[in-house]
Amino acid sequence: MIRENVIQLLSELPPGVELVAAAKTRTLSEILEAVDAGIQIIGENYVQETEIAYATIGNKVRWHYIGHLQRNKVKKAVNIFDMIETVDTTKIAHEIDKQCSRIGKKMSVLIEINSGREEQKSGVLPEDAEDLIKDISSLGNIKIEGLMTMGPYCYNTEDLRPYFAETRILFETIRRMCLSNIDMKYLSMGMTNSYRIAIEEGANTVRIGSKIFGDRV
Ligand SMILES: *Cc1c(COP(=O)(O)O)cnc(C)c1O
Repeated sequence: MIRENVIQLLSELPPGVELVAAAKTRTLSEILEAVDAGIQIIGENYVQETEIAYATIGNKVRWHYIGHLQRNKVKKAVNIFDMIETVDTTKIAHEIDKQCSRIGKKMSVLIEINSGREEQKSGVLPEDAEDLIKDISSLGNIKIEGLMTMGPYCYNTEDLRPYFAETRILFETIRRMCLSNIDMKYLSMGMTNSYRIAIEEGANTVRIGSKIFGDRV
């Protein structure tokens, strides 16, 4: 089933839209099946869980960190990941920069936007994103390449549309500023239930788990 799901999804996505397979809680053999079917980017929420899959799959694919990153996990994370999609504070950006400079790596990062303005949720508020980006744009070992958002939980996924639309406008606004050391290329929005809406609203990266691997138990 995983193979068929991947092939179906890849044939459905418009050209230029990148598929990140969200692999949290999946077994190594499930992830291998997805890679074998054509997955080129794996999204992971837990650093420790990733080490097992990374030991086998290595750099055959690209690895995106899509979970909430804790400071004490950054040192391990920078060894594995090609992109960290969830930077939302100067503090975590500085830690990534520091750990990357140790190993001579420049990390691609996305800024996570709390588009639903939810108190307990991670992500920077839309109105604070520009300041955060300007603050961390001078760090030599990170490269800001776009924005990511989850959006609030909505019973009706159609209700997510305005949050995606606002994030897209923010993405365009920051892109037009042509800030130095910033290359606004990726807009990562949409999951299994919302990726079609996200793409209509301008996403060029979607993060999909259940539609590839089945429902999480
Ligand atoms: C789990 C997860 C996804 C994928 O969710 P599905 O509903 O399984 O497609 C996407 N993004 C993030 C940040 C996730 O944690």
